[in-house]
Amino acid sequence: MASENGTSLGTSVARRFLFVANRFVAGDSARAAMDAIETLNAAGLSATLDYLGEDVRSRDEALRTRDEYVVLLAAIRARRVQSNVSLKLSAMGLLVDEDFAYENVAAVAAEAKKNADPFVRIDMEGSAATDATLRIFERVHAVHANAGPVLQAYLKRTPADLERMLALGARVRLCKGAYDEPAEIALRAMPEIRSAYLRMAESLLSRGTYPAIATHDVRIVEAVRAYAAERGFARDAFEFQMLYGIRPELQRRLARDGYRVRIYVPYGTHWMGYFYRRIMERRENALFVLGSLLKK
Ligand SMILES: Cc1cc2nc3c(=O)[nH]c(=O)nc-3n(C[C@H](O)[C@H](O)[C@H](O)COP(=O)(O)OP(=O)(O)OC[C@H]3O[C@@H](n4cnc5c(N)ncnc54)[C@H](O)[C@@H]3O)c2cc1C
Repeated sequence: MASENGTSLGTSVARRFLFVANRFVAGDSARAAMDAIETLNAAGLSATLDYLGEDVRSRDEALRTRDEYVVLLAAIRARRVQSNVSLKLSAMGLLVDEDFAYENVAAVAAEAKKNADPFVRIDMEGSAATDATLRIFERVHAVHANAGPVLQAYLKRTPADLERMLALGARVRLCKGAYDEPAEIALRAMPEIRSAYLRMAESLLSRGTYPAIATHDVRIVEAVRAYAAERGFARDAFEFQMLYGIRPELQRRLARDGYRVRIYVPYGTHWMGYFYRRIMERRENALFVLGSLLKK
C-alpha cells in the first residue's frame, strides 16, 4: 500500500506506519478492496466500501472522488461482490459548498440504483458537520430512497436527531462516535456512552428501518442480541457492522450464528485521517505504533 505522505515522512518511519495501517485498510486500489471483499463474502460477511479521503477543499478533487465512486459501483457490479458504499461529505465537497456536495452525493445515489445492493451510507464526521450532513441526507432521501445516515451515540443532540430520522423512516447506522468532541456537546465517559448507545439501539430495533448496529463492543453486541431475541425480532431484521481488521473472529462468529454482518472496508492512498482515528480510539494501538516507531 502506498503512502500519501511517503515522500515527506522518513522512508523507514513511513514503512512502519504502513505496516500498521495495512491492518485497517484493504489496499491502495479498488481492485485490492474487491479482493478483500471476496474473502469476506466467502466467510458470509457483506461489505460497505469507502474510498478514503476527507476535508477536500477543491472542486476538482471532490469531483474526482464522486467519479471514483461511479467506477467503484461499476466494479461491484462486474465482480458481483456483496457490497454497497459509504462516503464522507467532506470528501464530496462539503467544505467547498453545501449544494455542490449535495449534487455529488445525489449523483452517486442515482448511479447506485443500478446495483444489486443500491444502498449509499453517508458517514458522520465531526460535530461541525452534523447539521449539514443531516440536511444533505434529508435532501437526498426526498429524491432517492437508497441513502441512509449515521448517528453518533456520544453526541448529546443525538436522541433528538434519532426521533427526526425515525419519523422519516431513515435506515440509520448507529455508532459511538470517533471524533474528539468537547464535554459541552458530547458524553465522554464510556459507561455513559454505552448506555446512550443501548437506549438508541433499542429505539432503532423496535421502531426503525433495518438499523445497523456498528460496534465491536461485546457488551453492546450481547445486549442487542438479547433485546432482539426477547422481542422475537428476526435475525435478519437488522445488521451488525464492524470495521475491516477489527475483531474478525467476532465478525465471523455472529455470521455463523445467523446474524447479518457488514464490514466497512476502506481503501485508497489517503488513509492517514482514518488510520489516526483507529489508533487514537485504543490505547494499545497507540502504544503499538509508538513502540514500532521507536524500534531501531
Ligand atoms: C461499521 C462502522 C462504521 C462507523 N462509522 C462511523 C461514522 O460514520 N462516524 C463516526 O464518528 N464513527 C464511525 N465509526 C467508529 C465508531 O464511532 C467508534 O469510534 C468505533 O467503532 C469504536 O467504538 P466501539 O463501539 O467499537 O467500541 P470500543 O469500546 O471502542 O471498542 C470495543 C472493542 O473493540 C475493539 N476495538 C475497537 N476499536 C479498535 C481499534 N481501533 N483497534 C483495535 N481494536 C479495536 C477492542 O477490542 C475494544 O476493546 C464506525 C464504526 C463502525 C464499526
